[in-house]
Parts: sequence; structure tokens; C-alpha cells
Amino acid sequence: MERKKIFLRVDFNVPLTDEGRIADDTRIKAALPTITYLLERKSALIIASHLGRPKGKIVDKLRLDPVARRLEELLRKKVMKLNEVAGETVRKRAHFLQPGEIMLLENVRFHPGEEKNDPDLSRFFASLAELFVNDAFGTAHRAHASTAGVGEHLPAVAGLLMEKELKYLEQALTNPPRPLVLLLGGKKVSDKIGVLRTFIKKADYILIGGAMANTFLAAKGKQMGKSFLEKEKIEEAKAILSEAENNKVQFYLPLDFVAAAEMAPGVNSKVVAAGEMPPEMMALDIGPKTGKLFSDIIAAAGMVIWNGPLGVFELEPFYRGTAQVAEALASSSALSLVGGGDILAALQKLGLAAKMTHLSTGGGATLEFLEGKELPGVAVLQESESAPASTNA
Ligand code: ADP
Ligand code: MG
Repeated sequence: MERKKIFLRVDFNVPLTDEGRIADDTRIKAALPTITYLLERKSALIIASHLGRPKGKIVDKLRLDPVARRLEELLRKKVMKLNEVAGETVRKRAHFLQPGEIMLLENVRFHPGEEKNDPDLSRFFASLAELFVNDAFGTAHRAHASTAGVGEHLPAVAGLLMEKELKYLEQALTNPPRPLVLLLGGKKVSDKIGVLRTFIKKADYILIGGAMANTFLAAKGKQMGKSFLEKEKIEEAKAILSEAENNKVQFYLPLDFVAAAEMAPGVNSKVVAAGEMPPEMMALDIGPKTGKLFSDIIAAAGMVIWNGPLGVFELEPFYRGTAQVAEALASSSALSLVGGGDILAALQKLGLAAKMTHLSTGGGATLEFLEGKELPGVAVLQESESAPASTNA
């Protein structure tokens, strides 16, 4: 990549405040290693990202100017922000871009061709550069012009962040240190059914918490009171339970819960054994026995994949199950791969995020990868050249 012109796709899809300020710049910081790596090699960078869902139209609130300013601050270097995604100005500016310089295109989703993976837009992006570097793992499950299409017309390699994601996710699927534990929580079974199905065949243990456990317990005929559950998924939950029995995986549901009459701050709560939920109460967290069971399994694990909090961690009385298990994982020697917006927020709140081996930046992309699907933004990358770190540029 020495002195090359590079089309670099990153994920600058940061959360914004109502006033349009950047609420959290984690995603910008996460792209810095790749940007710095390429700048040190005197590349000229044409950076592209999406922000929000403008759906092919210009939405002024979703312009990338605040992102460009934040990137300038972090790099202490000028970032030339363009107001267009494609066209003559972009072509000229890219043409005259010098080694070590950076330009940032406007929000690529302002262009109607981006999400359609329009071949003309893909070819335009490719015409600007000599190499495509994809560091946007979070959008790798989308076949868009800047994530996949452009890579059909240029040599394409993974950025450092993408490379790290792929390393741990691939390891989880292909040769995990054992025992391999899949820990799933969060709200809906339906979001995570694909991952469950894949890991029934791969994992040694599957541990279920969060509201999704309620649907499984209901499938086993347990009374769940007023707990959140997906009635229309009960049949599928039954099928998964019997698949689990036919495989060697050990499948654990909660033994007990912290329950309350409503999901509200300061509400009275009590510990209830699974199967004894009073009709007027709902399960809002795993109970201490379950926390101990899950923690013991995790303490002896080789690798743990965790998606979704084990309770309503946003409310004080119901964060403890997630905390108990997170502490066990933090002090275990297991490789820990954690993904999902809410579980990451929970770990940050607990101050345990830095103790994990890898925090996955992709929500949907992480789940689809773990389901065993091929991601378009990954498929387009060249195996042989792999990532910048392993080439001798
Ligand atoms: P992630 O973003 O980590 O993938 P999800 O989005 O699937 O996780 O689910 C997170 C949400 O699930 C949180 O808002 C949490 O409050 C909720 N949740 C967890 N346990 C329960 C429960 N027992 N009842 C209702 N909601 C729950
Ligand atoms: Mg979520």
C-alpha cells in the first residue's frame, strides 16, 4: 500500500445527539489504527462511510461534517470533507490527492446507488483508487456499492479492524479452544435463532438468559406469569430443544429468576424458582443460582461467545445476573468474544468491557457471520493478500 491511492470503507455510523453532535466516537476511534497504518505508508486516503438511514436522499442532519471534524481532532491532521458522494468534483479532488492526504466523501447513503449496489457507482468508486480496503465489519453483511461492489473492480483487502473481527469470529466457527460456550440473552429468540441452530452443532454448552429464556421455558410447559415471551416462537423453541437433545451440546435454561410485578425502576423484586412464577409477576433477570451455574461453566471454558444481556440491566435491581456472569468471564482465562449493542453497553457500564478478548463491532453482521452465512463485504476480499498487517508493503 506504499504511496497508493486507497478507497477505504469505514464504519463512522456514530450515534448523534438531538443537536447533531457526536454522542459517542468509539467507531471513529476504532478506525484509527487502519488509517494511521495507511498514512504511515504514504497512502492517499479516500474514505467512505454511511451515517444513519437517509435512504438515497440528502438529509442535512446526516452529513459527515461533524465526523470529519472529530477525525481531524483525533488524527491532528487535515481531513478534506466533500459535500458529494460521486461526480466531477469528487473525481477531480481524488485525482489531485497527494500521498499522506485524506479526503472524506459525503454520507454514501445519500446516493441512491449505494444500497442498490449500483454497478455504475461501484465502478466510479473504483476509478478513484488503486486499492480497496474494507474496515467496515458492521456493514459487511450488506452488498452495497461501497462495501462490496467497489471490490469487484479493484484489488480488495481487509483493514485491521475487519481483520481482527474475522480472526476471532472465524476461530469461533472453525477451531475454538474448548469447551466452547454460547451465552445468549437479550429480548427475542427470533433475532438469534440462526446462531442457535449453528451452535447446537458446534458448541459444548449453550446458556440462555434474558427474555428469550422465557419462550424456551414456556415451550417446556413452565408457567411464566406476565413475563415477556414470543408465543408465536414456542413451536420453534420446542424444535430447538429437541435438536439440542439430539446433539452433544449441553443446553441450560435459567433455574431461577429475579421477578417483579412490573418493569419499572424501584419496583419490589424477589427471587423465584423457574416454573413457580406467580401469575401477576414477570421474570426480569436470571436469579443467583443461575448466575452461579453459568459462572462455573464459564470459569472452565476455553472460549465464550456472548450476545445479549441476561436481564433488564438498564434497571438497577435487574442488572445483577449480567454483572455476576460478566465478572466470571472477566476473570476466566477463556477467550471472550462479545457482540450486541446492549450487552456492550452493559459491559461498559460495569467497567468490564476492557477485560474481554474481543468486542465485536457488528450487530447484524456478527450474528450473520456466526450463523455461518457468507458476508458480501468479506467475500469480496482477497484471501491471499489478506490484511495490510500481513503484507510487506
Ligand atoms: P443485544 O443488543 O446485546 O444483542 P438485545 O437487543 O437482543 O441485546 O436485547 C437487549 C434488551 O433485552 C435489553 O433492552 C434488555 O432490557 C432486554 N431484556 C433482557 N432480559 C429481559 C427480560 N427478562 N424481560 C424483558 N426484557 C429483557
Ligand atoms: Mg440490542
